[in-house]
Amino acid sequence: MPLHIETPYVESRALSERSGRAIWLKFESAQPSGSFKLRGIGHACETYYARGAQRFISSSGGNAGLAVAYAGRQLDVPVIVVVPETTPARARELLRLEQAAVIVHGASWQEANAYAQSLLAAGDAFLHPFDDPLLWQGHASMIDEMARHGHKPDAIVLSVGGGGLLCGVVEGLQRNGWQDIPVLAVETEGTASLHAALQAGHPVELAAVHGVATSLGARRVCDQALTWAHSHPIHALRVSDPAALGACEQFLADHRVLVEPACGAALSVVYDGHPVLNAYSKLAIIICGGATTTIDQIRQWAAAC
Ligand SMILES: *Cc1c(COP(=O)(O)O)cnc(C)c1O
Repeated sequence: MPLHIETPYVESRALSERSGRAIWLKFESAQPSGSFKLRGIGHACETYYARGAQRFISSSGGNAGLAVAYAGRQLDVPVIVVVPETTPARARELLRLEQAAVIVHGASWQEANAYAQSLLAAGDAFLHPFDDPLLWQGHASMIDEMARHGHKPDAIVLSVGGGGLLCGVVEGLQRNGWQDIPVLAVETEGTASLHAALQAGHPVELAAVHGVATSLGARRVCDQALTWAHSHPIHALRVSDPAALGACEQFLADHRVLVEPACGAALSVVYDGHPVLNAYSKLAIIICGGATTTIDQIRQWAAAC
C-alpha cells in the first residue's frame, strides 16, 4: 500500500470562467502531509525501509520534512529532522505533531544539512527533498491518476523549487503516453533557479534566493530537470511575490483551500492571465499545496510587499 492517497482531479468553474479556458486542478494539497511531497518521499521511505533502513534523517523544515515525518510514523521508523534556527515555530510544531525528533542546529540550512549528514550511521536513510530518482518515480503517480481518469489537458502548470516535482511530472507524462503535453514551470522572481539554468544552457547556482515562496528556495535545480528540458517541452515562467500571494488569497476564496505562496506562484499564471496561456484551451494545474503558512502570514507578507 502506498503512503500517499489518490487525490481529486476536478474542473475549477471559478478559474475556467475567469480565464476563458478549461482549468482542471489536481489537489495534492489533500495529501495527509499537506503537499505532493508525500508521493515521492513516501515511495522513497518505503523503498529504503524494505532495504533495511531503521531510521530516516531529513534536513528540511518544510513540506519534505513533514512528508518524511508522516512516512516514518506510518512505517514505525524513527525520524530525525535537523532544522536551522531560522525555521519558524509553526514548522517545528507540525514536525512534532508527526512525532519526529526535531534538532535545531545552525544559522542556515547549509549548516543544518551538514549536521544531519554527520549523524548518518549504518541503518540510516537520508531523504533528499528533490534530487532522488525514487522521489520522481513516486511523484509520477499523480500523472498515472490523471491518465486513468482520462481528461487530457493540453498543458500542465506547476511550481518549481529544486525540480523534483517537475521531474516526477515529466516522468509520469512519458510513462503514460502523454509526452506531447508541455509543462509550464513556474518560479517566483527571487527563486528562479530553473529559469537561470535554462537561459545559461547549463546548471547554475544562484548566489541567493529571496522572497515569500520559501518552499521554492533551492539555489540550484537538480541536473535531471535540465536533462528533461532537452527531450520534453518545458517553459520556465517567473511571477512576482505579490502575484503569488494574491493567488493564495483568491484560491482560498474560490476553493476554500489555503496553499503556500510556492503554490500560489503556479496559480497566479492562470489568475493573472499570463499571455503564454493563449496557446492552450485545456490546462491542468498541480495544486502542490504546502502546510507551512497561515492566512495571517500571507496577509502580513502581502501588506509588506
Ligand atoms: C517542495 C515544494 C515545491 C517545489 O518542489 P520541487 O520538487 O522542489 O521543485 C512546490 N510547492 C510546495 C508546496 C512544495 O512543498
